Amino acid sequence: MDIEVKKNYPVKNLTSFKIGGAVDKLYFPKTQQEFIYLLKTLHNPIVVGSWSNVLISSDGIRGNVISTANLDKIEVKGTKIFADCGVKGPRLSQIALEHSLSGFEFMIGFPGSIGGNIYMNASAHAQSISDFLVSVCVFDMNKKEVFNLEKKALDFAYRTSILQKMPYILLSAEFELKKVDKFQIESLIKRNLEFRKTHQPTLSMPNAGSVFKNPENDSAGRLLDKVDAKTFHIGGAKVWENHANFVVNAGEATSSDVIELMFKMYSAVKDKYTIKLCPEIRFLGEKTQREEDICNIMYNQK
Ligand SMILES: Cc1cc2nc3c(=O)[nH]c(=O)nc-3n(C[C@H](O)[C@H](O)[C@H](O)COP(=O)(O)OP(=O)(O)OC[C@H]3O[C@@H](n4cnc5c(N)ncnc54)[C@H](O)[C@@H]3O)c2cc1C
Repeated sequence: MDIEVKKNYPVKNLTSFKIGGAVDKLYFPKTQQEFIYLLKTLHNPIVVGSWSNVLISSDGIRGNVISTANLDKIEVKGTKIFADCGVKGPRLSQIALEHSLSGFEFMIGFPGSIGGNIYMNASAHAQSISDFLVSVCVFDMNKKEVFNLEKKALDFAYRTSILQKMPYILLSAEFELKKVDKFQIESLIKRNLEFRKTHQPTLSMPNAGSVFKNPENDSAGRLLDKVDAKTFHIGGAKVWENHANFVVNAGEATSSDVIELMFKMYSAVKDKYTIKLCPEIRFLGEKTQREEDICNIMYNQK
């Protein structure tokens, strides 16, 4: 198959953080057939969607990465929407609006793809990707086969789904939305966009969304605020001055700057409250020994 591949490709500009070195081989399948072929034949490929919840090592990624950016088909049939894994949330939100379908208003303000959103169980403004999901089509990396899963088999919980526990890659998803007045959807979308302007950094301040998950019955932002995290910075990475659970790339930040800053934030909360924050951002690629050690502490909590 003649599938687009870029070799030794710097991915910094593809990521919402604007951080990351070169990927050995970056594939861009255009059809599900090409995607499945790559999943069947490549050794341990990493699949990425919109690169908006990942920190890519400044030393890059050795091996194979598959971008789902070109897998972007959407089909609307009545109140049902079928979307490929690479479809971007804001586009899907717009298409749902055009068809007077409610349920995707929350996706308007962040760049996640459907694959990334289901992997992370993305949510905002009291809506989540799991709310209107009916079923998904996945590829099992162990069995090398394609099959369907109903929503209840996806094990959705706060910022997690079965995709984080099993070797499944999301190919596409089916949703059933609610038909409502277009005006109602429009005003919800407008309200969500307004909220983001004041509560979250826009992509002109490169970031990857919330850094840590909220601990049970608390908010990571509140705890980080209490330890003065808004004043923290390391190298080109700094905590956003308006919300302590965001790290922004204020210039030429490296992945090490971000990891060290995250560890400083984590340690400050742990020392003061004995609460161990768990990172939401995924760190992918080559790691120095120091990064490996920090990641083992922050990411491998029981
Ligand atoms: C400005 C900004 C605002 C944000 N606001 C929110 C918010 O309000 N709510 C929220 O939940 N998140 C938010 N995020 C975080 C992020 O957009 C979400 O986590 C999103 O779901 C990530 O999707 P992605 O396509 O970018 O995933 P990526 O960053 O590309 O990947 C994330 C993980 O998903 C895996 N993955 C991607 N595609 C697939 C697939 N097809 N099959 C299996 N695994 C896959 C990757 O391997 C990786 O481990 C925000 C981010 C930014 C930059």
